[in-house]
Amino acid sequence: MGKKQRVLITGGAGFLGSHLCDRFINEGFHVIAMDNLITGDLRNIEHLFKHPDFEFYHHDVSTFVHVPGELHYILHFASPASPIDYLKIPIQTLKVGSLGIHNLLGLARLKKSRILIASTSEVYGDPLVHPQPEEYYGNVNPVGPRGVYDEAKRFQEAMTMAYHTFHGLDTRIARIFNTYGPRMRLNDGRVLPAFIGQALRGEDLTVFGDGSQTRSFCYVDDQIEGLFRLLMSDYHLPVNIGNPDEVSIMEFALEIIKLTGTTQKIITKPLPVDDPKQRQPDISRAKEILGWEPKVSRAEGLKITYEYFKSLPKEILFERENKRFEKYIR
Ligand code: UDP
Repeated sequence: MGKKQRVLITGGAGFLGSHLCDRFINEGFHVIAMDNLITGDLRNIEHLFKHPDFEFYHHDVSTFVHVPGELHYILHFASPASPIDYLKIPIQTLKVGSLGIHNLLGLARLKKSRILIASTSEVYGDPLVHPQPEEYYGNVNPVGPRGVYDEAKRFQEAMTMAYHTFHGLDTRIARIFNTYGPRMRLNDGRVLPAFIGQALRGEDLTVFGDGSQTRSFCYVDDQIEGLFRLLMSDYHLPVNIGNPDEVSIMEFALEIIKLTGTTQKIITKPLPVDDPKQRQPDISRAKEILGWEPKVSRAEGLKITYEYFKSLPKEILFERENKRFEKYIR
């Protein structure tokens, strides 16, 4: 048997990062997960700790990154990724997208690795073009609450392209649209765990604004398949990975009520500043280049996700998220 290929996954204890760890272990890679655990959670990867081809480094990629030995692939998935996180830890969000990517691109150069970065539909801001193709430059407010995430991710794309064109680095850019599934943080404020958590705790569901804003939700297994195919392709320009099945947040709340059978009602709260009015990926590029499109319907994906949240220990339902950030907020 030949030597295993080695992959570094930053944000490896996070939602997408941990699913990537599983996928690469299953594909026969040696996986090195790195995470500073601000938003990541060891519970997402504890099942891998005994695996001989899994290593975990507790490290903040915004500071110098050192990994001994060869690295064939790097996937940069370390970043807070929920609007509530950006408000609580804005500077860390900016640092991981800027200083963090610089460190990882440097590491990729040294190790001659191929690097895939997790970008986002947030690079399109509150989009004026619908659905959003990769050619759209976006409508981003740099000084609003989401600016710290959106601009860090835009900078990250620019930096990655510069390393590609100037240093000839082998790079991939995934623009990830709203993705859901098991291992999302129950109390991170994102709409799906928020609604399911509220239903499980017997609270009313909080729809922000009038609920007419739209999102398009991709099940995690589809997302991971798209990311894997992109990494293995030879395409270096950005590719949207998401599910084009668009739904308004009000309709989505009604779907969650039906799914969970909760007798609670929907209440409305003010719409957060710069909350995008609509979001739907144009996935023509992914279809053409990767031969990929999502396969899991929202009904199926939501059922699996609900079962996961239901199976969590009761204390997680009532976990205080602020505790997580206390030591980082100065
Ligand atoms: N949202 C909501 N109620 C909640 C949480 C979120 O109505 O309790 C809305 C939010 O205003 C946004 C959408 O759901 O329009 C998706 O929010 P999320 O934070 O999941 O991610 P975003 O796509 O905005 O980054």
